[in-house]
Amino acid sequence: MRIDMPKAVSGILKTLQRAGYEAYIVGGCVRDALLRREPSDWDITTDATPGQVQALFPKTIPTGIQHGTVTVRRQGVSYEVTTYRVDGVYEDARHPKDVTFTADLSEDLRRRDFTINALAYNEKQGLIDLFEGEKDLKEGIVRCVGDARERFTEDALRILRAYRFAAQLSFRVEDETHAAACEMSGRLVMISAERIRGELMKMICSAHPERIIDLYEAGATAHFFPEWDLCMNTPQTNPYHCYDVGKHIAESMRAIRPDPVLRLTMLLHDIAKPQTRSVDADGTDHFYNHPEKSADMAREIMKRLKYDNATIRRVTNLVRHHDMHLGRTPTKRMIRRMMHEVGREDFPLLLEVIEADNAAKAPSCRAEKEEELARIRLLHAEIEEAKDAVETRDLAITGNDLIASGIAPGAVIGRILETLLEEVIEDPSRNKKEYLSEEGKRLYEVYV
Ligand code: ATP
Ligand code: MG
Repeated sequence: MRIDMPKAVSGILKTLQRAGYEAYIVGGCVRDALLRREPSDWDITTDATPGQVQALFPKTIPTGIQHGTVTVRRQGVSYEVTTYRVDGVYEDARHPKDVTFTADLSEDLRRRDFTINALAYNEKQGLIDLFEGEKDLKEGIVRCVGDARERFTEDALRILRAYRFAAQLSFRVEDETHAAACEMSGRLVMISAERIRGELMKMICSAHPERIIDLYEAGATAHFFPEWDLCMNTPQTNPYHCYDVGKHIAESMRAIRPDPVLRLTMLLHDIAKPQTRSVDADGTDHFYNHPEKSADMAREIMKRLKYDNATIRRVTNLVRHHDMHLGRTPTKRMIRRMMHEVGREDFPLLLEVIEADNAAKAPSCRAEKEEELARIRLLHAEIEEAKDAVETRDLAITGNDLIASGIAPGAVIGRILETLLEEVIEDPSRNKKEYLSEEGKRLYEVYV
């Protein structure tokens, strides 16, 4: 068994070994190489101390010296070299109180989360597999190293990591590990929003975003995303749907490409359905105003999980508009208005969102929406081709032009531009400087 690694990586191993140290590639990269997947990064573990590593390489960054990690730069790429270590006591289900370096590789492998992540390799010694990680890889199993309850007690994030790796690799979580996850999931309340968000995003951007249902079944989502648990128990008995809300959302994530904003939008697009559900006299479920309410809830959930403002703005915008209806015969004018409301940049994303939402609905009602979408796409392409104005910056006139034509600066300028844009959206042939200048002056007289 041989693993092909980048030249830079085998070079780092050799440099360490020639200086008399042990050195291995370790963790995710060994796992991914054995699965014939492209490793996301190549991590190296060694018995050399951080100081000794720094002394051996010309370009290093002391990334996490207190945890034993030194970044070595080679040809513009970063490689993390970490000293063998043992984690001290975990005080708060989060951070080991302290870490101790060790000269023993087996101690370093023992502290790792799963058997498939506790593999080390170098060309001389071959694969170091102390916990039957290779067997679990072959069988497609995520299993804790050692006692699962202890490992989840030490660091509850591992609960999310178990299901995240299962989703990425199409594996299953081994029974005892799953039972321990169910038992210990309450400890997730001690984990920071940032770490939870990281794992959640890796899971929903994986090949199996629907496996978030496993997290619900393990009792994990209740502790950081309780809104999801309500969706899992909300039926939607109406002609449009064949799944309950949770399953519909899960399927809609599967139907969209694995872009973080798009997957997150699908995850949150119907999140307010449990709160907006009403049942009419013939037993049909309605969810009035759910896009608006879902957008509000999405914002709160993303704030709680500490998403960046740009992501919050975009996802909220897409969620708010996900139920857009332009009818059987959408016109270019209708589409320009919609592009104005949603924004030129987000509009194509919105079409993807609507398509994925539709794909997760009852088969009998999909065709009509597909036709509507196809027509919108055609007209949208024509609008983009013609560069029709849909935002004030697309106008043939600017605020400064208006001021130069004699209009007093102030809030009225914005109002005039907005009105001019409305006119141009109705009729793109009006997007001419002369016309807009005259019309601007006329509006000014009306407004002041
Ligand atoms: P990815 O492809 O997502 O980077 P990875 O396996 O490399 O997967 P990392 O989070 O980069 O995951 O961690 C690198 C290695 O460090 C893991 O393979 C595992 O051995 C160990 N590790 C990471 N986080 C933990 C943790 N919370 N508990 C125990 N070991 C961990
Ligand atoms: Mg990694």
